[in-house]
Amino acid sequence: MKDSDKTRTRRVLSVASECVPLVKTGGLADVAGALPKALAPLGWAVRTMLPAYPKLLSAIEGGTEVWSEADLFGGAARLISGRAGGLDLLLLDAPHLFDRAGGPYGVGGQDYPDNPERFAALSWAAASVAQGGTTEGWRPDILHAHDWQAGLAPAYLRYGPPTGVKSVVTIHNIAFQGLAPAGRLAGLRLPYGAFTPEGIEYYGNISALKAGLVTADAITTVSPTYAAELTRPEFGMGLQGVVAARSATLSGILNGIDTDVWNPEADPEILPYSVRNLKPKKANRAALLAEFGLGEVPGPLAILVSRLTHQKGIDLIAQSASGFVARGGGLAVLGSGDPGLEAALRGLAETYRGRIAIHIGYDEALSHRMFGGGDAVLVPSRFEPCGLTQMYGLRYGTVPVVALTGGLADSVIGTSPATEAAQASTGVTFTPVDAAGLSRALAQLCDLYADPARWTALSKRAMKAPVGWDRAARDYAALYAGLAG
Ligand code: ADP
Repeated sequence: MKDSDKTRTRRVLSVASECVPLVKTGGLADVAGALPKALAPLGWAVRTMLPAYPKLLSAIEGGTEVWSEADLFGGAARLISGRAGGLDLLLLDAPHLFDRAGGPYGVGGQDYPDNPERFAALSWAAASVAQGGTTEGWRPDILHAHDWQAGLAPAYLRYGPPTGVKSVVTIHNIAFQGLAPAGRLAGLRLPYGAFTPEGIEYYGNISALKAGLVTADAITTVSPTYAAELTRPEFGMGLQGVVAARSATLSGILNGIDTDVWNPEADPEILPYSVRNLKPKKANRAALLAEFGLGEVPGPLAILVSRLTHQKGIDLIAQSASGFVARGGGLAVLGSGDPGLEAALRGLAETYRGRIAIHIGYDEALSHRMFGGGDAVLVPSRFEPCGLTQMYGLRYGTVPVVALTGGLADSVIGTSPATEAAQASTGVTFTPVDAAGLSRALAQLCDLYADPARWTALSKRAMKAPVGWDRAARDYAALYAGLAG
């Protein structure tokens, strides 16, 4: 490498199926949207490749076509380069694959049947860019593929002509593996020779995520603890052996949160407060109680903002509620999901009227008011690759009560005599993840809340915990630099 090359800005092609602020269904979008901004000051320029879902093309400024194929999995496709939402974008315009009335992945709760081809197309286009196939000749140093939707990109790179471009695949949730029947191998432009147990074959199917895991130069996931958990059968969801075999290239990098969007000192939904002046939080609490139709709550007011699914441990709350309410606690829930869990929470709100209330739905503004007014946030997940709500809780001094798993274990320091003496604790943690564990955690929360000096100290320490993107961006930059040489 020439000396002049060492100082040039280096390039990343980030390939994702969703990205804030353009399209979001989950945490992957937050990461894909936040990383480019955090990496820029570290000398890494990121270009983000996304499918051109409806309306995305009209959002882009100065769009120019830089690549095309007459028949990409059944129709014409082109890449449009431009800017939108503060990001440098390459949008894959392929109307036969992406111009649909439903969501990014399906409609009416059903996945699109051609999802394997839709995201293979995204991955193919990404590999073509890495191979220098655009009219601009732009090539990345690193191709960064997010989740199964981009999992075939490192595979196409590996099976194509040598490029020198290094690839990284990030697992945001290993539950989604991108399966396709073996008969679609040739249609997906994958070589027969790759369809082996060491390659992209997965119990007789093709797995796009596995393809990424076996062909990428490095694998990351969204927390160090989840990285370790992924090699175990309880968490690996069938891919634990594949992950274990590549553990030398695996690292966990904890996500950050957007500290401008989640800022108690400048949140338009609440009365602003800070670590120096927590007083307005009391008024926010009173407003939240009123908004949820709750009465006086003498103990801690806990909140829960979540998808209501088995993963999130929602069933454990029903089993721990009576003891918590008896100690003076209250609970405000915002979420939607599994009808059985919604019904169970509605039942709790009936039984403990005035102390427990639930709002079924998805409401970002309300979630801000809940973090602004709640005393504690519950996150009793059975598994949690990273988790965001515990970090919002830290930032808002809304003490996180979390299961010791995945990113929850990496972002919250539980309260024990030792961590309190060291002034290190930032929340309450519990394990094993069962009803008895959550009940003990809620009892500890009540004890802490009953002692105003301890409580205020804990809440303030939570607010000072680092939750931004700086550390994660440095870790990704170091990983890229190690690969690119
Ligand atoms: P997951 O991606 O598994 O759902 P995360 O904690 O990583 O879990 O991210 C969930 C995100 O969605 C958080 O930003 C959380 O605040 C938000 N969220 C979940 N449910 C709701 C809801 N009902 N209303 C508003 N925001 C919600």
